Amino acid sequence: MVQFKNIETKNHKKVVYCSDSDTGLKAFIAVHNTVLGPSLGGCRMWSYQSEEEALVDVLRLSKGMTYKAAIAGLKLGGGKSVIIGSSKEDKSKALFKSFGKFVDMLSGEYITAEDVGTTEDDMEIVRTETKYVTGVSKENGGSGDPSPVTAYGTYIGIKASVKYKFNISSLSGLKIMVQGIGSVGEHLVHHLCNDGADVYVNDIDIEKLNYVSRKYSVKIIKPENLYGFDADVYAPCALGATINDTTIDQLKCPIIAGAANNVLLDSKKHGNQLMKKNILFAPDYVINAGGLINVANEIEGYNEDKVKNKTESIYDTLLNIYKISNDSGISTSEASSRLAEKIIAEKHENQLLEIEL
Ligand code: NAD
Repeated sequence: MVQFKNIETKNHKKVVYCSDSDTGLKAFIAVHNTVLGPSLGGCRMWSYQSEEEALVDVLRLSKGMTYKAAIAGLKLGGGKSVIIGSSKEDKSKALFKSFGKFVDMLSGEYITAEDVGTTEDDMEIVRTETKYVTGVSKENGGSGDPSPVTAYGTYIGIKASVKYKFNISSLSGLKIMVQGIGSVGEHLVHHLCNDGADVYVNDIDIEKLNYVSRKYSVKIIKPENLYGFDADVYAPCALGATINDTTIDQLKCPIIAGAANNVLLDSKKHGNQLMKKNILFAPDYVINAGGLINVANEIEGYNEDKVKNKTESIYDTLLNIYKISNDSGISTSEASSRLAEKIIAEKHENQLLEIEL
């Protein structure tokens, strides 16, 4: 039974339930906010245990996209979609065509893209039914895989965090541990090694560990040593919620800055605890915005230089958030939320003024 009170609590503009018995499609599309522009966010395909679980996820993720787009200075709102099903067993051309038709019904209020469980190829199928899709292949005028840009932005964000914390501009000689060396993590390792950092890597996939440690000059760190390791920077690039009641007391590193979404299990509680421990936390949706900047640029006609410049602005955005946090005595995650809300509120007020005039 889907609980409608979940929808009411997060102030969403629109939530659509998509059901198509012919193709087996069951999905939600959530449009959280469109004050800054059309909502954009990936389509996740996941084996949710229930429709309620899928609904909770899409509501949470779409709200996060509103904040991410606002902070990144994009003329976009926040949206997301989730398809209920296994990305390994339940995919079909008909399913993604059907999903594309639902996206098209929203007439551009929601623009989709790839996410966990969906790929560039899936978006190519969606594109046959709607123009409101990004993240298609470079051959078809798209921006392709966003991971290298996400990694570049994360690298820039680590540099900003190091500058703020230690007042140094180079990463040379700094001990940096990267947890998760997948699509984003490996590209990040490349930038860090180029900058002369002393890089430690961790992954549950032994083959990836072997591959990356052959390709780059890195050391492997065991999972049981990770959180208590005396590094300068911990860069989470695997799963979310790695900062929780169990890990937070073990932490020795002065900076946490990585690409993983929702690093803090409880953003308020753990954000405050990190502040008390004098650990600088780069809010994840700020530092990992490179991927969104990349797909957003596809809408206006992809331009690599523009994407690079915009991604580099993550440096100043983070310094601004750190300053707000310091000046106001609030955690960095609270500072970034307030900044995003201020950007949206100002635009909303201007829109209302325009309507009144
Ligand atoms: P990916 O699946 O390619 O890589 C994740 C890596 O983490 C894998 O190598 C996996 O083996 C490893 N891993 C999983 N659980 C682990 C654990 N417990 N300990 C250590 N390693 C573990 O994913 P990705 O695209 O590189 O994304 C990484 C993170 O960044 C995710 O949280 C994702 O949501 C976030 N993110 C990615 C992008 C993007 O452009 N790809 C954009 C924004 C945010």
